[in-house]
Amino acid sequence: MSAYLDNAATTRLHPEVRDAMVAVTAFANPSSLHRLGREARDALEAARDEVARVLRVDSGEIYFTSGATEANNLAILGAARAADAAAIVTTAVEHSAVLEPCRHLRKRGRPLTIVDCDRDGRVAADAVLEAVTEETALISIMLANNEVGTLQPVAEVATAGRSGPALVHCDAAQASGKMSVRPRELGVDLLTLSGHKMHGPRGVGVLYVRSGVVLEPLVHGGGHERSLRPGTENVIAAVGFARALAVAERDLDENRSRMSGFRARLREAVAGVPGLVCHADGVPSLPSILSFSVPGLLGDALVVDLDMRDVQVSSGSACESRSVDPSHVLKAMAVPDDLALGTLRLSVAADTTEAEIEHAVGVVPETIERFLRLRAR
Ligand code: PLP
Repeated sequence: MSAYLDNAATTRLHPEVRDAMVAVTAFANPSSLHRLGREARDALEAARDEVARVLRVDSGEIYFTSGATEANNLAILGAARAADAAAIVTTAVEHSAVLEPCRHLRKRGRPLTIVDCDRDGRVAADAVLEAVTEETALISIMLANNEVGTLQPVAEVATAGRSGPALVHCDAAQASGKMSVRPRELGVDLLTLSGHKMHGPRGVGVLYVRSGVVLEPLVHGGGHERSLRPGTENVIAAVGFARALAVAERDLDENRSRMSGFRARLREAVAGVPGLVCHADGVPSLPSILSFSVPGLLGDALVVDLDMRDVQVSSGSACESRSVDPSHVLKAMAVPDDLALGTLRLSVAADTTEAEIEHAVGVVPETIERFLRLRAR
């Protein structure tokens, strides 16, 4: 038996997504004028229409990218370069795919404010709004954190942030498939999604760009994606993305309650571990992520040991887990370094099974307690 509980890093392809991608026969260049080109264009535009339908926006507001990293970079660098205002406001709990483009802009002279969070990883809307001035070009705030699951007050920021020229960008990569994501309900101008976080293919994402918002492209080439993201389109990936989003929306209520139940079961299983601290406990958060720390232990060592017992988890955020430093999110949450280093993130998804959870429940607390006994010797 095995338990894949690293779904916040990436998810398995949904069978319906795989079938939809396999069924794509159009191979030609969507820009070609001939019949085969038009077939590819039709498949691409049908995928765009489907994404727009689920997000309740217009098809012309949807741009396909290579993933959330590119979509975030396009939103942040593209908005900053197109704006008259210079300053950027973001939060301390963002993914590095948001923080790094913001820091890149700071190196080139743009004022950057990184708003702190509380001990649960929650950023106060007021604190974000206080940092916004007439000079602010962009506010970037995530919908749900990828390490601890905390939800952020995006709608509050986006509706109140309307007084100045600032655009509001939201990285919703981790939220889709676990909660409803509707850019217009949130009131944001720009919104990022990633295929592989919701049982779609890797290497495809979407940037929603509200009609009327002007971005400068990051790369220059042909007129693809209305010149904002040139390069021959990846039709099969776009089809897979659209199907993944549609399936996630269709099954949302059922999936949410399954995931919440699984998270609660895992939470209960580790509750008795001495000294264990659960993060973002009791604040609005994703139903899919359980993050906790055990003082004196090394999360990375636990990950390796659990893997030998066929339980795959993460010691933090997968994208950043090659670093031995405690994660910037846990640091921002004022988790002491020695505690932060002993962190595990267990993340479930729509296709997690009861059997996986039962396997993990049998293995995870027992492994942590064995590590604690070894340390006490
Ligand atoms: N934003 C968040 C919140 C994420 O969790 C991730 C992936 O871990 C990314 C962005 C990057 O996504 P992608 O792999 O699609 O570039």
